[in-house]
Amino acid sequence: MNSKVVLVLVDGMVPESLEACGHGFVPGFLEKSISIMNARTVMPSSTLPCHMSLFHSVLPQRHGILTNTYVPQVRPIAGLFELLKKCGRTTATFYNWEQLRDLSRPGSLSYSHYISQYDYENTDSRLTDSAIDYINEKSPDFVFIYLGNTDEIGHKYGWMSKEYLDAVNIAWSCIERIYNGISGEYTIIVTADHGGHDYTHGTELDSDMTIPIIIRSSVPCRASDRAKDASIIDIAPTIAEIMGVEPDSDWKGESLVCR
Ligand SMILES: [Zn+2]
Repeated sequence: MNSKVVLVLVDGMVPESLEACGHGFVPGFLEKSISIMNARTVMPSSTLPCHMSLFHSVLPQRHGILTNTYVPQVRPIAGLFELLKKCGRTTATFYNWEQLRDLSRPGSLSYSHYISQYDYENTDSRLTDSAIDYINEKSPDFVFIYLGNTDEIGHKYGWMSKEYLDAVNIAWSCIERIYNGISGEYTIIVTADHGGHDYTHGTELDSDMTIPIIIRSSVPCRASDRAKDASIIDIAPTIAEIMGVEPDSDWKGESLVCR
């Protein structure tokens, strides 16, 4: 049996912040999920290169996006949105960092909702409400929700500062609302693009490179052998597995779950 998927990405959320943020929804959600707390992102540990690797299942050297400025790919790879379009599945994105508009090629998405990031905390919450409404109205097959506030606060006050942990707590309130607000037919995957240290990220330090990947599957499945060495490039093949579509032959990651 296959499942629809909602992927929630909290920008810059480090694994140790999940417990430290003190949100009451987190322990129960982790318990019901496949929780990987030592997954690796890619270098450079920056937002757009990491997102490109997440959605195209290759390292930055292959997709060629090495900074937060998008450039057309020299040898284009089909990303998750292109693959799902080819398979006749519907997709939607909700985001508040405009550079992410280049994660999919024109014509791939069924729906896209962008709010300017002038006030991340407020826009994270508005995006969450819009996504819940859209999911309940249209029942799309795959939804990507990007929450940008945590990274913004990390840069301003420092990773693992009180303000940063408050931001992670707010992100989990959004995730709790999504979990409670949509049909149980959806698998929910929560992850981050990169971590952070002091007031920044982008380096090869463990604190920048380690991310959580939490898979709350709505269909029976267990962690695959790959889960022990999980990478951000495994997320697209994992979503393909859960949705019952063949991953693209150019993809280098592997599914983190098996049936
Ligand atoms: Zn950042």
